[in-house]
Amino acid sequence: ERQALNRLRRLASRLSGGEKIRLQANFEIPAELPLIAQSGASGIGLLRSEFLFINASVLPDEDEQAEAYAAVITAMGGDETTIRVVDWGGEKQSEALSRAGITMGEDGLNPALGVRGIRLLLQNPGFLETQFAAILRASLLGPVRVLLPMVTLAEEIAQARALYEHVARRLRRRGVKLGHDLPPLGIMVETPAAALMAESLAVLADFMAIGTNDLTMYTLAVDRASADVATLYDPLHPAVLRLIEHTTAAGVRHNRPVSLCGEIAGDPVAVPLLIGMGLRSFSMSASAVPRVKRAIRGTTLDACRDLRARVLHETDPTAVRLVLTAGSGT
Ligand code: PEP
Ligand code: MG
Repeated sequence: ERQALNRLRRLASRLSGGEKIRLQANFEIPAELPLIAQSGASGIGLLRSEFLFINASVLPDEDEQAEAYAAVITAMGGDETTIRVVDWGGEKQSEALSRAGITMGEDGLNPALGVRGIRLLLQNPGFLETQFAAILRASLLGPVRVLLPMVTLAEEIAQARALYEHVARRLRRRGVKLGHDLPPLGIMVETPAAALMAESLAVLADFMAIGTNDLTMYTLAVDRASADVATLYDPLHPAVLRLIEHTTAAGVRHNRPVSLCGEIAGDPVAVPLLIGMGLRSFSMSASAVPRVKRAIRGTTLDACRDLRARVLHETDPTAVRLVLTAGSGT
């Protein structure tokens, strides 16, 4: 089994009919880099930049952030690195940010619905500008994309892009040789609002990454961190699946790349369904890449579409899962 998975590393990620499916890795901490390099992933589809701040008591400055990104980009050896600016708030907390006066609001009623993600960043534009500057400088070393977390409004994309371009102009004045086109600036689609508005948001974003971890939480009104409701937390709930499909179709229609980077991207049973719904790009924990690749190589586009057609009749997650496991033949 281990040897078989090892061999898979060198094989192409294609359906048995030849259609290419892109498999990338999620990155949380630098210690994962060797595993990512060995996994057969073609780049990083989600770099969670929280690692830079999580154990820090003071904020790393622009140079320190740029160096950390540079190390990752260099290690990827020409494969793409998708860097998400900090997604703070919700269950994610940082001492360095609080000390720097970057806080999530005072009332503490429900952090998942409060000042988190892009909201926190736009309230602290200097902090976001530093992140953009560090990423843009590191982008001279290899292909990079930049990702905004927790978007719910078109206006948030417009404001972030204005800051992004402002930072790029400032860097150019400082003599940093950025290319004519900046690295693509895309959005996480991880709220029902963003998924339902994907048509309009796709126009403003260079690419979209569907985050099913939060999308599931917000769609089902089930806290992703709560043991009490863990049995209700299921990204295969038809409501979540419909939002994924709607988002994917919007991306295809507007010619914007769409990927999926929640935990479900690493589930070999779920990926054929997601392919049947139109997705061609997934980002997952590095350890999941070989098994997902095996599932992809063992199925056809027709089989994936057939799976999707059968699943769409179902009304609850358990029934969806039954269809998928019956279809996977494993
Ligand atoms: C998600 O919400 O699905 C996601 C990929 O982001 P995170 O898990 O970091 O919130
Ligand atoms: Mg998320």
